[in-house]
Amino acid sequence: MTRTAVLGAGLAGLAAATELVGAGHDVTVFEARNRVGGRVWSETISAAGGLHVIERGAEFVLGGYSTLRDHCRKHGLELVDTGMSYYVRIPGDRPHVSTDAMATLGERAAEAVATGSGARSVADVLDEIGVEGDTREALEARIEMSTAVRVDQVSAQGTLDHVASFHPQPSWRIGGGNQRLPDAMASVLGDAIRLNSKVQAAVQHGDEVVITAGGEEESFDYAVVALPFGVLIDATSLLIDIPDRKRQAMSRIVQGNAAKLHLALDEVPRASAVMSVSGRFWTWTANGLGGAVAPVLNCFGGEIGHLLRLGIDRGARGWEGEVRALRADLAIGHAGAVITSWPFDPLARGAYTAHAPGFSVQDAEALAAAYGRLYFAGEYIDPEFTGLMEGALRSGHSAAAALIAAESRVAA
Ligand SMILES: Cc1cc2nc3c(=O)[nH]c(=O)nc-3n(C[C@H](O)[C@H](O)[C@H](O)COP(=O)(O)OP(=O)(O)OC[C@H]3O[C@@H](n4cnc5c(N)ncnc54)[C@H](O)[C@@H]3O)c2cc1C
Repeated sequence: MTRTAVLGAGLAGLAAATELVGAGHDVTVFEARNRVGGRVWSETISAAGGLHVIERGAEFVLGGYSTLRDHCRKHGLELVDTGMSYYVRIPGDRPHVSTDAMATLGERAAEAVATGSGARSVADVLDEIGVEGDTREALEARIEMSTAVRVDQVSAQGTLDHVASFHPQPSWRIGGGNQRLPDAMASVLGDAIRLNSKVQAAVQHGDEVVITAGGEEESFDYAVVALPFGVLIDATSLLIDIPDRKRQAMSRIVQGNAAKLHLALDEVPRASAVMSVSGRFWTWTANGLGGAVAPVLNCFGGEIGHLLRLGIDRGARGWEGEVRALRADLAIGHAGAVITSWPFDPLARGAYTAHAPGFSVQDAEALAAAYGRLYFAGEYIDPEFTGLMEGALRSGHSAAAALIAAESRVAA
């Protein structure tokens, strides 16, 4: 029986492991945390007399998530309409800028992307179409909050027409918490998953891959490396052989940084989505399981410069103050705020990735390519759903399929 190690039990690693077990492999999943799911992490907060689910990591299930929907169906999980649109956020500190004006400007920018070179940043394209003033700043804020990097760092292609589109479309969450999906996938994998097993090295020797975890070495026939991009590029925490071509492609990936803040509300609000243009954060209230709006204010801040200005390295206080000023329409309680700072999580080292200007089709191929007996998966690899849960799942399936195909060629 082929022995395969999977490094990381996020959605990418779990998808790969599921597929490999299905193909008859003897799979061991190494996960450093004491839970599966990685950047999918649901917990509860007490608000208005009850417990409500919060998503400390990935939240929205968006259009085109066919793989995630397939997994949910398989595990009997229900998607709940959030009742608000992830795509449309009222600029609360720029009341004279309408969401329609932002959408119109976004459309002009998307048209300009379609006709020009692929090596431009979002900022380049906005310069080209010649817009200035508050509407531009609101649009920039909207994009920086989606990509979690500055508009001059991210490729215009794939950004303006995908994650950061600006028209009202529905968005969903997994009823009872997104965490239910990795938990369900893990329950099928059972003993194959080893929690609290941090990998220190993955090294190829001849026909073997030697994995070092907790100081112990173990040999496998293959390994799927499904670790976060931020962990993979940090040579001090992980010894792993990555070929030059892949490293070059990785240099055109940009690491986004984001944090979330959850505040309990004393009253049930209406569904809403309001952003702070200056603060580069947005806030929303949304439906929970059962279709009623939950009394929880969810906040997301993106881009490291703004996050540090909000003081996320010192706790929730600074950011909470700005949120209270922005959302004076809500009855925000005084129970403890829950802050989740992904840039400082050593097992994530950031939130999710985006493509830098100049990222090419060849780069995408290099990222996805196997290196000897090492296969790679993770949100940063999928070219279409980069940075998203759907991309993580797709990358896991693709890596496993490539491994299974290579193995059957060797056997033939
Ligand atoms: C704040 C935030 C908001 C987001 N919002 C959305 C959203 O609304 N919609 C959406 O689709 N996506 C969203 N995402 C992105 C989504 O969470 C990710 O794209 C996806 O979960 C990544 O899955 P992954 O398997 O590639 O990585 P991960 O989930 O990070 O899995 C990698 C695993 O590797 C483990 N690991 C790390 N180092 C080691 C080691 N040395 N040894 C062993 N294990 C290790 C980690 O603990 C982790 O479990 C958001 C992410 C964040 C942080």
